[in-house]
Amino acid sequence: MDMNAIGKVVNVLGHSRNTIAVTGAGISTEAGIPDFRGKDGIYTKLGENRVMNIINIHAFNQNPAEFYDFHRKYFSFPPVEPSKAHKILSEMEKKGRLKGIVTQNIDGLHEKAGSKKVIAIHGTSNRYICMNTGCQALYNQDYVDNYPAAVPLCEKCEGVLKPDVVLFGENIKDYSQAQEMITSAQVLLVIGSSLTVYPLAGFVKEFSTFYQDLIIINKGRTQLDHAALVKIDGGNTGDTLEEINRQMDLRGF
Ligand SMILES: [Zn+2]
Repeated sequence: MDMNAIGKVVNVLGHSRNTIAVTGAGISTEAGIPDFRGKDGIYTKLGENRVMNIINIHAFNQNPAEFYDFHRKYFSFPPVEPSKAHKILSEMEKKGRLKGIVTQNIDGLHEKAGSKKVIAIHGTSNRYICMNTGCQALYNQDYVDNYPAAVPLCEKCEGVLKPDVVLFGENIKDYSQAQEMITSAQVLLVIGSSLTVYPLAGFVKEFSTFYQDLIIINKGRTQLDHAALVKIDGGNTGDTLEEINRQMDLRGF
């Protein structure tokens, strides 16, 4: 572990009144969730275009059965528990060291770990929403798993249910709230994201243009390494965050 870098992070976070975390796939792979864009991820295996053509709102509207087939095969997560990193971030929020999280992940693990202020800009995969605009009732995974047909329907209005995730062709959720949260941060802590997916990467870039306190914890390089005050590469993210949190306790931050 790079104790020098960790000491620097502790110091910066300790003096920040408004630290926001931005999290990506790297934090959830430590909980056992595959990185869709990693070596064995579906984007790599099937190709970006094929995935985009299926995980697409127009494709969904045209043929929800085919979509659900694909979704069950590639996007249903086994019931996993939050990783150590998720738990430490939740603890940091309780201790006032973190004001919120903007995540690209759709696994709902931040909420499961107890984090309260979370903006999941790509939605949450184990939640389903009725497509009937007048209804928009929400359903959980159990309802869909136990539904007796390939395409689950709303029990109130018979509308088609869609996973409450942002498909290609749809707008991200809470766009302006996410942008506002990131650009008004005093310190931005990026964890487990290579910052290649827009618009999130753009928000972080915007932050780094005007402010200096960007901290990146990620295995491998990111698009904004050059702009980071501290970059911690490699090692287990949970262990790194645990050490940061522990040192903040010790120093009374
Ligand atoms: Zn409905």
